Amino acid sequence: MASPVRMTISEVHALCMRGLIAHKLNFESAHALANVITAAERDGCRSHGLFRLPHYIDSLRYGLVDPETCPKLLPSAGSAVRVDAQKSFGALAWQLGLPQLVSKARQNGIAAYAVYNVFHYSALWHEMEDLAKEGLVGMAFLNSKSFVAHHGGSSKIYGTNPMAFGFPRGPDQPPVVFDQASAVMARGDIMMKEQQGDSIPPGCALDAAGNPTTDPAAALEGAQLTFGGAKGSNIALMVELMAAGLTGMPWSYEARQECVDQNSSVPTRNGEFVIAINPEMFGGTSEDTTKRLEELFEHILADPGTRLPSQRRYSSRQISETEGIDVDSKIHQAIMDRIQTAEE
Ligand code: NDP
Repeated sequence: MASPVRMTISEVHALCMRGLIAHKLNFESAHALANVITAAERDGCRSHGLFRLPHYIDSLRYGLVDPETCPKLLPSAGSAVRVDAQKSFGALAWQLGLPQLVSKARQNGIAAYAVYNVFHYSALWHEMEDLAKEGLVGMAFLNSKSFVAHHGGSSKIYGTNPMAFGFPRGPDQPPVVFDQASAVMARGDIMMKEQQGDSIPPGCALDAAGNPTTDPAAALEGAQLTFGGAKGSNIALMVELMAAGLTGMPWSYEARQECVDQNSSVPTRNGEFVIAINPEMFGGTSEDTTKRLEELFEHILADPGTRLPSQRRYSSRQISETEGIDVDSKIHQAIMDRIQTAEE
């Protein structure tokens, strides 16, 4: 196996920019997306880092995403913030909606962001970190193309349907954030296992005939399973209703039907819904509350074997900042191949 390519964080960002600009993506969108991909690579969230860049590029090459299109803010009443991504990527849409979401949440105690016609495809934790930096609690829901069965079945009904949650802490502490797929495994992780020739754990997927499998290739053909049986299915259903039901965007199985190549890994047209809560309006940011939060975390962490969600990411971030990032050579090559073809 070829050795990984050691890169600094800014080199990763520059590689993303080169790949996206070579495929004519407009600068603003490319920059926003490069930030998100680089942050994932930096934080050790490899399934949403450079691994995704060839798929983003392919969605430009196949004409799924118009490289010149930018999202636009829609008129929104009350606590609602609405952005039509106009079939562009999610990162710039989020940047556009965020200031209004923060301002409406501060003013009203609670506000919500809905994005329509978005090719999202990224992790959600960075959105929760953006809200937490503003002192806001956040919850995000995103559906995608169907890969996951409802508990008891074997048809592809849901996307891997992630949801994320962020809660700000005192001034010197990074927020508590979790961000998780409703499937046992994120699809990107199964794809990476396939690339690396590894098997997947039992209980993650069914093959195309509906039988349990540990072969990633068979899992990618068949249906993924939700975590926690029926309870995970219910979470996937909630995410579907929040992301696609509230926005009127395609259900995950409809998003699959819209794909030219239904088994390809390019993103699909979906909706996302994010709730932002201002704790100040509910009495939740006094010194007393901050102290209480820290007491809870200390209490949890006093138990050996525990850690808070996002702790792993924050540690990876520190290591990447000082030591750089080892990028898988196959992924690096796949990106370079596309860049060279486009730049020729
Ligand atoms: P993981 O299973 O890796 O982690 C889920 C969450 O649990 C993370 O917040 C993680 O924090 C936390 N966690 C893990 N282990 C522990 C532990 N021992 N104690 C406390 N918390 C823990 O994530 P998934 O594989 O489910 O999802 C990966 C990513 O894929 C997500 O970012 C998600 O948004 C993204 N995704 C995107 C989709 C899209 O369509 N755009 C579709 C599906 C998924 P930590 O990070 O610190 O380990």
